Amino acid sequence: REILDENDLDKLKDRPPVITIMGHVDHGKTTLLDYIRKSKVAASEAGGITQGIGAYKVQVPIDGKPLPCVFLDTPGHEAFGAMRARGASVTDIAVIVVAADDGIRPQTNEAIAHAKAAAVPIIVAINKACQLDMSALIDKDGANPERVMQELSSIGLMPEDWGGDVPIVQISALKGENIDDLLETIMLVAELQELKANPDGSAKGTVIEAGLDKSKGPFATFMVQNGTLRRGDIVVCGEAFGKVRALFDDAGKRVEVATPSIPVQVIGLNNVSIAGDDFEVVHSLDAAREKAESRAESLRNERISAKAG
Ligand code: GDP
Repeated sequence: REILDENDLDKLKDRPPVITIMGHVDHGKTTLLDYIRKSKVAASEAGGITQGIGAYKVQVPIDGKPLPCVFLDTPGHEAFGAMRARGASVTDIAVIVVAADDGIRPQTNEAIAHAKAAAVPIIVAINKACQLDMSALIDKDGANPERVMQELSSIGLMPEDWGGDVPIVQISALKGENIDDLLETIMLVAELQELKANPDGSAKGTVIEAGLDKSKGPFATFMVQNGTLRRGDIVVCGEAFGKVRALFDDAGKRVEVATPSIPVQVIGLNNVSIAGDDFEVVHSLDAAREKAESRAESLRNERISAKAG
């Protein structure tokens, strides 16, 4: 198979944006992720409720044409921080959820700091902002979306409506209000980024979720960042390796390939990997074993010298 050249500009093709939702606890991240998943993912394809694989794809209609976009399903900045700490970056856009009745809180600031450190564009979703919510909340500390916007501008996130560059969307995650607006805003911001990858050649990417299943054995969700992953490929992934026995998409359906930005669960690894590990396809099991062993070795040495230092 052709050797992958990420710099071969002719081969670059558009890829879907990958979104992380962050924000303070209880501001509505899980509710928002659930709403988007339930309303947009065709879980019925695989026969009902499916188990999450750590990310899911939705189609957003833009000018009548459905365009894919992918959400990491682990809310909160812990996951984002853990990935970044391991040198991994898979997120293209950060959606920061701020509850209208609570405003900017410590974890909001942390989330913003994470997004800035990773240099990914920020979209703010002011949540719990529907009419009913507002009339219930109106007496609570006088909090409201307007005040959230003032708070945002005071920390340097100037709303677009006020001449700045931060898109703000008022939503109700609970009632599903304005979620389409939010998705369209995401796609607009993504379009400006001109996200591209080379789908040719062997796959490389990052593990976004991993674990051990009683019947399936070690599993990992891969986010392909370049190339195309195929069933039967031999992969090294952190200190683990193996032949890809099966690929499952976000609806739990068996698939044969995964292209850039599309998350797939991979079965066939010999060991458990960790979110943030990178993976790559190699040409033989021997090469895979060798690579995995040398990685394990250098990690051991790092740990020893860290202890000594
Ligand atoms: P997370 O900790 O950021 O993931 O927040 P959750 O999604 O768990 O939401 C925290 C609480 O806020 C839950 O009780 C939700 O039902 C509630 N909530 C989330 N979105 C809304 C909303 O738009 N309006 C109202 N009134 N409540 C909401």
